[in-house]
Amino acid sequence: MLVHICCSVDSHHFLEKLREDFPDEKLTGFFYDPNIHPYSEYKLRLLDVEYSCDRLGIELLEGPYDLEGWLGLVKGLENEPEKGDRCTVCFDNRLEVSIKKAKELGCKSFTTSLLISPKKSQDKLEIIGDKLSKEYGVDFIFKDYRSGNGMELQSKAVKENLLYRQNYCGCLFGLTAQRIQQQKLLDEMISPISNQIMPESIEERIALYKKRNILYKEDKNFKIIKQKFLNYRLLSGSVSSEKKVIPSYFLPYSSLKNKKTAGQIEYEIDNIYYLNRDETKLLTLKYFNTLANTQYENIFELIKNPPLFNDELEVRNKIAQSPYDLSCIVVLETIPDKKIEISLNSELFDDVREVIVELNK
Ligand code: SF4
Repeated sequence: MLVHICCSVDSHHFLEKLREDFPDEKLTGFFYDPNIHPYSEYKLRLLDVEYSCDRLGIELLEGPYDLEGWLGLVKGLENEPEKGDRCTVCFDNRLEVSIKKAKELGCKSFTTSLLISPKKSQDKLEIIGDKLSKEYGVDFIFKDYRSGNGMELQSKAVKENLLYRQNYCGCLFGLTAQRIQQQKLLDEMISPISNQIMPESIEERIALYKKRNILYKEDKNFKIIKQKFLNYRLLSGSVSSEKKVIPSYFLPYSSLKNKKTAGQIEYEIDNIYYLNRDETKLLTLKYFNTLANTQYENIFELIKNPPLFNDELEVRNKIAQSPYDLSCIVVLETIPDKKIEISLNSELFDDVREVIVELNK
């Protein structure tokens, strides 16, 4: 039987149940989900499904990540609500590619872990599965593992196996609507040009779940716990003087109440230059190199290849001498002695991240 897999949260318990109900059947997982955006999130969910299938001893195949094909199919349906027509097209596509794969592999039957997802219509999936089954001559296995205490067991499997629990269905369109409704930053679609790994970003989660895989292989005793913290994203920032933009680098947690300030250097203490407005501080790249123990030759090098986020935080702490400081701190190659204008668009927000803690045996 070929089992289309949408994510480990849905597939882990689903596969366990299928194995109970079809003990003589060889199950093969098929991860075909070009609806998952961005690509980094796709890789993260795949990583988790690989880990889950490894734990279950089930072979896993990966389908093509045909993003453009998928976008073409849902064109015109971008603004449909979740569970609407875009989702029907999305199921059609994923099930049709899966049944074709099942046929190619000579499987007699196929099914999908979408059937256990509480947010998906089982009726819709059954209609699509049965229609495809008639067309391709491969049985569609409909199973309702949701009812009764199904959801409770699914949740237990996720907890026990330390699986990655995503907080959106998958596509850019559903995610955008969800974040607007939650009045939350669409952070999943933001990647710094430097590729720096930001706190509670998809990239940080990939690193965390890779570490989980290593600890699992080493048979270590560990837990994944949640931490509430103040998160930060720099959206844009620039500095100019005498109507010329100057290369600049904003340290994390820099913020400006009105997104703009302008003033002159009022005084300098220990290589930190204080603007006479909005608690803004400036330092030279040379002094930044001293504080960060780096050797950048110009600001562009720093922008393209910055230190680790936490190392930058240490620099901020050395300058501000407070873990709660949110003032705007900017690195420049040289400090202008004329009027300085600063624009800064940044977001500070409450967030929750996962961290791994190792336990004593
Ligand atoms: S919301 Fe989910 S099911 Fe609907 S189109 Fe997007 S990814 Fe597919």
